Amino acid sequence: MSSSTPSARLVIMGPQGAGKGTQAARLAETYDIPAISTGDIFRANIKGGTELGRLVQEYTAKGDLVPDEVTNAMVRDRLAQDDVASGFILDGYPRNAAQVVELDGILADLGVALDGVLELTADRAELLERMRKRAEIEGREDDTDEAIARRLDIYAEQTAPLADAYAARDLLIQVDGIGEVEEITGRLVAELNPRLGV
Ligand code: ADP
Repeated sequence: MSSSTPSARLVIMGPQGAGKGTQAARLAETYDIPAISTGDIFRANIKGGTELGRLVQEYTAKGDLVPDEVTNAMVRDRLAQDDVASGFILDGYPRNAAQVVELDGILADLGVALDGVLELTADRAELLERMRKRAEIEGREDDTDEAIARRLDIYAEQTAPLADAYAARDLLIQVDGIGEVEEITGRLVAELNPRLGV
């Protein structure tokens, strides 16, 4: 770790369409850490026709969560790799209370802890509008109306409540996800830097 680059172990959360992936990539560059998107890893495996890909495809296509044991094992493997030694930004994990417990265990085993949990907020109308645009551009299998609605519902029921749990641990940084991409990155970095000792 160089003196200008602090370690940063981060989670980014927020509903579908809030801009998590975009901001995760920008923060990864800012702090020189890998962005780890569970959805991207699943999609790469589906595309590559791997065993993991075949296992998860039926869930991701419908917008359902992949079973925890599959997702947890994948994240544990990923966080054991050398490139996460000075940090990471997790996008798409944890997504339910059981995954929070699992992540705590993975990090405890590695002897590290989270530095912050970022939550991007946006209202449902804005999210739906962004998702429609993204569907046209990316053509993702789970960007059908049904799968989008399913994912937003699961987010509201299972993932959004995790923010309270992280707030109770004083890890939560909530940022408005509406605005210019750069402006939002600026808000995130302004909140994060003092916590990271930058
Ligand atoms: P989005 O946030 O737009 O739903 P992601 O790329 O984060 O998209 O995830 C795509 C799909 O991958 C999810 O709908 C789900 O099926 C699966 N997935 C990703 N992360 C997890 C997770 N932490 N637990 C279970 N399933 C997951």
